Amino acid sequence: MTALHTPAHAGIPAGDVPTWTMLVDGAWTPAASGALDDVVTPAHRGRVIARVARAGREDVDRAVRAARAAFGPWSGEHFTVRQRALARIADAVEARSEELARLTAADTGNALRTQARPEVATLVDLFRYFAGVAGEVKGTTLPAGDGQLQYTRLEPLGVVGAILPWNSPLMIAGFKVPAALAAGNTVVLKAAEDAPLSVLLLAEICAGFLPPGVLNAFSGLGREAGAALVEHPGVDKLSFTGSTEVGRGVARHAGERLVPASLELGGKNPSIVFPDAVGDDLVPGLLASSRFARQGQSCTAGSRLFLHEDVHDEVLDRLVTAMGALTVGDPLDEASDIGAVINAKQFGAIDDYLRAGREDPAMSTALGGTAPVDGPLTEGYYHLPTVFSGARNEFRLAREEIFGPVLVVIPWREVDDVVRMANDSHYGLAAYVWGRDLDRTLTTAHRLQAGWIQVNQGGGQVVGQSYGGYKDSGMGREVSLEGMLAGFTQTKQVNVRLRG
Ligand code: NAD
Repeated sequence: MTALHTPAHAGIPAGDVPTWTMLVDGAWTPAASGALDDVVTPAHRGRVIARVARAGREDVDRAVRAARAAFGPWSGEHFTVRQRALARIADAVEARSEELARLTAADTGNALRTQARPEVATLVDLFRYFAGVAGEVKGTTLPAGDGQLQYTRLEPLGVVGAILPWNSPLMIAGFKVPAALAAGNTVVLKAAEDAPLSVLLLAEICAGFLPPGVLNAFSGLGREAGAALVEHPGVDKLSFTGSTEVGRGVARHAGERLVPASLELGGKNPSIVFPDAVGDDLVPGLLASSRFARQGQSCTAGSRLFLHEDVHDEVLDRLVTAMGALTVGDPLDEASDIGAVINAKQFGAIDDYLRAGREDPAMSTALGGTAPVDGPLTEGYYHLPTVFSGARNEFRLAREEIFGPVLVVIPWREVDDVVRMANDSHYGLAAYVWGRDLDRTLTTAHRLQAGWIQVNQGGGQVVGQSYGGYKDSGMGREVSLEGMLAGFTQTKQVNVRLRG
């Protein structure tokens, strides 16, 4: 395993692994309790690659106070000050992109070549994009007659409490941090305890270009640091990405305190293939949309594949061949297409779904179906690509978010039926439609209940697009200028009587 980054701020001697503290008010400090959490790489069971300070209630309170103190001066700056800071951060992140990518591969298990590097590239784009639109936080004036000046200001909300999951920490930090800062807010950022390292390095880079307290960052347990942030009266906005279950709790607290919350939650996303979709680009597109290269640990994974009966066998065959050819291995190995799933708990949960799939006589195992039983892959939390065919939409494997490299294939014949099945889910995050007849594909796209539909492509979010879920997949939008304005500002109306 390649040597890991040793952070410049590593301050606490803790044996032979680096120790990361937390960024509060521009300084790196240990947790008040002195508690540390081990960060274990998914590539090797039990191998501790770092220790991180475990933030508690007192630490969260200090971070929120620092962010409150920094808010006035930061929000009072001309927008070009924020713009310059974000643009410089983008350059600095780009300059250290390999380091960030290696760190993210090591702590998330996402393969370096297929996932970690592209994720850092997206992060750079996001900082540049929000730097570019920082001057668009504009109000309006009303044609209210000569005796009146009536205008609005879009003002920042204050302190944003941002909570990240472990699956794509840098990209999701990029959805929140630059947008919140560009609009003039300050941020308290909580990394997921399973994959905090690249987020802390990002914070270190950002701190070089921001006044103290504008961005504060720490790792910690959800029920401690996460809950403390959600409940803190000094937080003016909550921006959460994670599971639907935890998201509901965040929304409940936000409701009680009457602070706005945006939630990006889970998904069980349909991918609908029409017969005329079959061509050379279909299988690569389906591979991308499956997010198998991220071990399926993506909320936007097209994990319910609806194949039209006329092309079912042909597409399944080609897809299984392509998925079977993917290399699963050490995330830091350039040869790996697929890395490791995040931890023992997630590994076990996927195993349970595989068992349920194998034991269901209605389904066939078209690919995989079991975790590796011997060899080097058993040293880490590695799962192999699995495809179950012959599924029906009401099966458990077609309804629950597995968050692993497991695809269920469901045959269909009539468009109305497939649209009904696709929409028969409490989730509504993303969907994919594949076909050459644009009338038909777009009409289908418009009928689907999801916040993000892709037609004939399966890649990830691109800067400037709207991103967010319908139904239990969340509320609020990110990644776009419109999302930033709606999510990180509030409108003030000013009516002035002019004496002439
Ligand atoms: P999770 O909900 O368990 O944890 C997410 C974050 O919330 C972590 O930082 C965790 O520490 C924190 N947390 C946990 N309990 C908390 C509490 N009581 N109060 C406050 N914070 C708390 O989710 P996860 O397992 O880290 O991530 C996987 C889930 O995230 C999946 O369901 C996935 O679909 C979803 N996800 C959604 C998106 C999206 O954009 N819609 C993106 C990535 C992941």
